[in-house]
Amino acid sequence: MPRAAIIDGKAIAEALRREVARGVARLKRERDLTPGLAVVLVGEDPASQVYVRNKAAATQQAGMISLEYKLPADTSEAALLALIGELNRRADVHGILVQLPLPKQIDAAKVIEAIDPAKDVDGFHPINVGRLASGGKALAPCTPTGCVILAKSVQRDLTGLEAVVIGRSNIVGKPMAQLLLGENCTVTIAHSRTRDLPAVTRRADLLVAAVGKAEMIRGHWLKPGAIVIDVGIQRLIAPDGKSRLVGDVTFTEAVEVAGAITPVPGGVGPMTIACLLENTLRAAASA
Ligand code: NAP
Repeated sequence: MPRAAIIDGKAIAEALRREVARGVARLKRERDLTPGLAVVLVGEDPASQVYVRNKAAATQQAGMISLEYKLPADTSEAALLALIGELNRRADVHGILVQLPLPKQIDAAKVIEAIDPAKDVDGFHPINVGRLASGGKALAPCTPTGCVILAKSVQRDLTGLEAVVIGRSNIVGKPMAQLLLGENCTVTIAHSRTRDLPAVTRRADLLVAAVGKAEMIRGHWLKPGAIVIDVGIQRLIAPDGKSRLVGDVTFTEAVEVAGAITPVPGGVGPMTIACLLENTLRAAASA
């Protein structure tokens, strides 16, 4: 069996970002409209600060306006809801993203529900969740959208594939399953209570792992030739103190069995921001 093809998420994301930038330029030219993305960060979580910085830089690179709101960790729910209300009303803001997690005094569900569904570029609002589930036109969550693009870079038509999604979070697993149903896959959602997970994953022509457990999925869990999309990102510290990023899949084993596989880093990660830009462009275009 030849080694798996490595799916180059970085290159695919860059191509998508260039396409979005062309769409932004067209919108400016034809409608004198510049898409604006507002990103709200509450508190000082270091990982969230990096994500927000990266999102702002990518937004500007695509020719969009980036608005950043950095609020202190003790911000009240009422103050955050008031800001969301203001952003909902602003005509120059087409996308609103509230970086999760939020401090414990704030009910994240309430905040997500306060965002105008037409500006909900994360695709977490119940209206968008419902539209996605019922096969309607929705702003879909960015990470699973990116996973579909990566899978389709290997096989343009996913129709009829046996797809297994490991993980049932609202952010990745559940929308992933909905999107794959939309691609006419036969979808199984596995989770922490699934019995004999390796037997389930061995059926998968397309496996999406969104677990958050470093290198849990071993090579012998895979169907030979499968497309493997690894959403997980964990930092492993070796005994010598050096650290490296790994996914949910044991890459060195999987690469000998799979037909195509995303690396970590450089696979799913870069697609998330690219899809966020695409959602912002779509939101602006339909404003
Ligand atoms: P999450 O909310 O913690 O969900 C993890 C899911 O994995 C849950 O549904 C859980 O099942 C399941 N699970 C846990 N242990 C399991 C096991 N032993 N066997 C089978 N299933 C198991 O995580 P998430 O937000 O979906 O994220 C998952 C991973 O993706 C994390 O590593 C995260 O960092 C990464 N991520 C990456 C990106 C990116 O842009 N690359 C974006 C988002 C997330 P239960 O429901 O039964 O508990």
